[in-house]
Amino acid sequence: MEPIFIPNLAQAPQKSEEVEVKAFLADLETLTPVRGKVRVEHHGNFLQVSCHVETIITCTCDRCLQQYNHRLVTNASEIIWLQEPEAENDEFNIEREVAMEDLVESVSPQGYFDVQEWLYQQLCLEIPQRQLCNLSCPGIQPQGQGETETPVDSRWASLQALKNKLSN
Ligand SMILES: [Zn+2]
Repeated sequence: MEPIFIPNLAQAPQKSEEVEVKAFLADLETLTPVRGKVRVEHHGNFLQVSCHVETIITCTCDRCLQQYNHRLVTNASEIIWLQEPEAENDEFNIEREVAMEDLVESVSPQGYFDVQEWLYQQLCLEIPQRQLCNLSCPGIQPQGQGETETPVDSRWASLQALKNKLSN
């Protein structure tokens, strides 16, 4: 997956390019290649990037620690501003820090758009925060014990509630 040279994209028919994806991405461990399409459109002062890709990753269940496969699908769409990176200016360091977030989503109009890096970010966003092999996964069962989860002392009740909240 070659990065797209933005000035070339501006000259392309319909000022857009569709990239067929069928590859393993560096830094993203997947069972199958990432497959799908990425479309990049040049709109003068911004790029409109969209994709439909999918792959399969291996997750570890938060409750029982078993591994399971998860289908990762993303239909992301994002606007990336075309602007030259701002020149260094010590006097406005604080303002620059605030502006850093905006800079992440911008790229030089004379530079390259890294399709693979963008795709990597979109797929990472789709990785489930809470990984469960099954919604009703009972988790690791304590051996040789019955229902002993009920708190004996009421002072532990709030702690137990917090624990339940964290494990849910
Ligand atoms: Zn599980």
